[in-house]
Amino acid sequence: LTLRPSRQASCPIKVSFEFFPPKTPEMEATLWSSIERLAPLQPQFVSVTYGAGGSTRERTHATVSRLVRETHLNPAAHLTCVDATKEEVDGVISAYWEAGVRHVVALRGDPVGGLGTAYAPHPQGYRRTCDLVRGIKAVGDFEVSVSAYPEKHPEAASLEADIDELQAKVDCGADRAITQFFFDNEHYFRYLDRVRARGINIPIVPGIVPVQNFKQTANFAAKTGASIPAWLAARFDGLDGDVETRKLIAAAVAAEQVIDLVDRGVNEFHFYTMNRADLVYAICRLLGLRGQADKVAA
Ligand code: FAD
Repeated sequence: LTLRPSRQASCPIKVSFEFFPPKTPEMEATLWSSIERLAPLQPQFVSVTYGAGGSTRERTHATVSRLVRETHLNPAAHLTCVDATKEEVDGVISAYWEAGVRHVVALRGDPVGGLGTAYAPHPQGYRRTCDLVRGIKAVGDFEVSVSAYPEKHPEAASLEADIDELQAKVDCGADRAITQFFFDNEHYFRYLDRVRARGINIPIVPGIVPVQNFKQTANFAAKTGASIPAWLAARFDGLDGDVETRKLIAAAVAAEQVIDLVDRGVNEFHFYTMNRADLVYAICRLLGLRGQADKVAA
């Protein structure tokens, strides 16, 4: 690995940032200062997640609407099919359209009983993500992003079955897939080969998670089917009480990962920010992005 001072990809680098809707005024302040810090990097879009079972419906809507009203950013609202009728979901989609939102990240969502329990679609709801994608496109000319799982979604019978699901989402109009996070780039490239071999040509944007907290990331990875390489665990081993070193390692790990992806032809990245700007901002700088003078305020 060589870290050059001004690394240049053959194509311009495009980034997007994912946030979650804040629960408290303090979390809201953190989110907005992170948005302000990251906005000058001119992301393609910024997305706001939808809590399990629609638990953040109002907060997601409030955050996305504020992004439309108060910034130049292009917001994307996550939306799931869980525990809601088609009518309710269509109502959420129409409200986004009316608020000026033009991009939705369409997901099935986790089972109501949590990960590991069986998924049961709402009897009057969208059954699969591909149905939701079609429903969104029927409401308005939205850009629609969907998920992709380089290491297979835990519920999928096989990676091929998982790619069948991606194919169905593309057939219903999905414009882009964002991957679950991964730490070994080989998983991404092997997946990309299989997806392209199936004739799926939409962008498959790698989802990058800077490891703000190793234990949390490892727990989440175990539930979502993402693997934690032994070398990664070893780098964080014994550093539970050493926040500063953990942060430096997290930055180095993510930098190594994205630079390897750039070297191998990737020029689009989606960052899971956890509502924090510092690591993501530093990694974007390493990718050669410069903050523009533009202010976040419209
Ligand atoms: P899909 O891609 O539709 O399906 C995943 C796999 O599960 C497919 O291979 C399919 O074959 C299999 N499968 C689907 N249904 C069944 C079934 N009934 N029986 C057996 N197998 C089945 N979750 C949230 O709650 N809110 C969010 O904002 C959110 N944002 C996300 C953003 C990204 C980029 C990613 C990667 C995930 C996100 N998730 C979010 C998590 C996601 O909701 C879960 O992973 C969920 O379990 C699957 O939803 P999906 O749309 O990814 O599934």
